[in-house]
Amino acid sequence: MIPYGRQWIDDADIQAVVDTLRSDWLTQGPAVGKLEAAFAELCRVPHAVAVNSATSALHIACLAIGAGPGDVVWTVPNTFVASANCARLCGADVDFVDIDPKTYNISVPALAQKLRDAKAAGRLPKAVIPVHFSGRAPDQEAIWSLAKDYGFRVIEDASHSVGATYDGEPVGSCRWSDIAVFSFHPVKIVTTAEGGLATTRDPALAERMARLRTHGITKDEALLTNKNEGGWYYEQIELGLNYRLTDLQAALGLSQLRRLEEFLHRRRELVARYDRLLAEMPVTRPLVDLIDESAWHLYVIRIDPKRAGKTRRQVYDAMRAAGIGVQVHYIPVHLQPYYRALGFKPGHCPEAERYAEEALSLPLYPALTDGEQDAVVAALKQSLS
Ligand SMILES: *Cc1c(COP(=O)(O)O)cnc(C)c1O
Repeated sequence: MIPYGRQWIDDADIQAVVDTLRSDWLTQGPAVGKLEAAFAELCRVPHAVAVNSATSALHIACLAIGAGPGDVVWTVPNTFVASANCARLCGADVDFVDIDPKTYNISVPALAQKLRDAKAAGRLPKAVIPVHFSGRAPDQEAIWSLAKDYGFRVIEDASHSVGATYDGEPVGSCRWSDIAVFSFHPVKIVTTAEGGLATTRDPALAERMARLRTHGITKDEALLTNKNEGGWYYEQIELGLNYRLTDLQAALGLSQLRRLEEFLHRRRELVARYDRLLAEMPVTRPLVDLIDESAWHLYVIRIDPKRAGKTRRQVYDAMRAAGIGVQVHYIPVHLQPYYRALGFKPGHCPEAERYAEEALSLPLYPALTDGEQDAVVAALKQSLS
């Protein structure tokens, strides 16, 4: 089976983990600090906080901005469930903004309209979580400008976007957001097995996220409630979690980062190749106008049965039977049973719902060979015939 995505681990990656196993640190230690420094440099941002998943990073990001009961946080339906769950885990309500029919990212006109309505109803969001779908940045400048007008926070879910740029700035620079979150899951751009990281320009948000990662515990003299009793003394000053990344994982991440440019280059090469090879097929290809800006986590085509003569289900089944691990990104989050039980119904985000009925992710990862890609294209052609 050719999967839709997978990691690429080389001997240097393995050696980095083995070396760490022989070191003094297994859990969060010097390698985590090095990974954070490397990421801060990559993103040209002062602060990076590494954690054990992007889900954890989104959770502590929401906690750090103070989202809680009585607040509402908005995200898009075309994402992994974690982009919405993070707010629910803080006790906040969630609502969904529809997507743009071309980029599949948050629709800025839909966001602007929803903000006008929310203002009239007296229920503006505490935060908006735009997602960098497939590795392409949303319209960050426009979103940030709305954030200033309406007074909400912006947490970018940049899980797909390690190494991407927007308007010449590295994604994660937080020029147009409060916090940006990345994922190091094996199908993403670089991996630590499980892992995630949050970047921010705000030292207070960085400090709070670092504290929430470790149980809400501090040794910072300025924050202690009582007298410091000695070197062993610490205080838990708020409710936190154990969301630490291990040094084994951070060493893997550091090793992977050395090949980031190579990974991105190969992903872009494969995307350009798909774009040529699929040009004559009756499917909608993704936008490639910003091919060098996107990190290209996913290559999603759309199968409109009226044009293709086949349903997405038929193509999915045929390709799976041919050993091609196509996938669907994403089932609209608001239509998951958990969110339906909160009152969300079909029709809430029509564009995302239409998209989700047609979307199919083709295999895309740096170790995919031209020959394997040709096999994917041949299977697609066959399944459409
Ligand atoms: C993968 C992903 C996550 C969750 O990442 P983990 O590191 O697996 O927790 C969150 N949001 C989006 C958009 C993702 O693709």
